[in-house]
Amino acid sequence: MHPDSLRQYLEFYQDMHINTVYRRSARKSEPQPGPEPADSRMPAAAAAPEAAADTREPALPGLAPEGDTLLKIIQDIGDCKRCRLHEGRNKIVFGSGNEQARLVFVGEGPGADEDAQGFPFVGRAGQLLTQMIEATAAKEGIPLKRPDAYICNVVKCRPPENRTPEPDEMEICGQFLFRQLSTIQPKAICALGASAAKALLGRKEGVTRMRGNWYKWNGIPVMVTYHPSYLLRPYNQNAKREAWEDLKKVLHFVYD
Ligand code: URA
Repeated sequence: MHPDSLRQYLEFYQDMHINTVYRRSARKSEPQPGPEPADSRMPAAAAAPEAAADTREPALPGLAPEGDTLLKIIQDIGDCKRCRLHEGRNKIVFGSGNEQARLVFVGEGPGADEDAQGFPFVGRAGQLLTQMIEATAAKEGIPLKRPDAYICNVVKCRPPENRTPEPDEMEICGQFLFRQLSTIQPKAICALGASAAKALLGRKEGVTRMRGNWYKWNGIPVMVTYHPSYLLRPYNQNAKREAWEDLKKVLHFVYD
């Protein structure tokens, strides 16, 4: 890591009142050969998170100050200028939903609608996400509405032109995501798209390869699936069907 990035990182921990950090061997933060993720064609019991979860640690573990709350995290974020994304933002998009949710969805970062309103997934992709959650739950007999879950993003400020967040932006803002997840302690996390998967699992494989399988973030099962924006493209009907299957798996794991 470049010394400037390291300094920025340590200052950031200091901001979060974390004064002791431990160095892990460099090899651990790189993708490691490990058990293959569960085959999505396996019977449900064999593909359950406990049996199948990939226990490789993420590149950067979530460190949360003791007694952390969502309110404290919002206060620590403050009028954040820790990375360049603050320059173009209108509103910081922290997250929304049930603070004691059993299921958390993690997206990439706010788009134009989210930046204007200050809430995650309120644009077209958000409408699709809401429809997917509520229609799948209803069809499966699970009494779940969108506000029962918690929804947030890896980065809290809109990237210009909706570009993919840069690694340093994800690293800086990711610490707040980790604190959110550590505070909520959901039963499962659903990573929407490659940026969320990368931030949580530190893995470089594409979503197509990772989707449908269980991994773990700090002991919490993580299901990777397609980002709703990707599903909005008309030629992605197959991906849509797969995303519905992934969601079904998550909902049954969390609510059965
Ligand atoms: N895309 C995301 O990843 N997050 C949002 O909040 C909206 C669109």
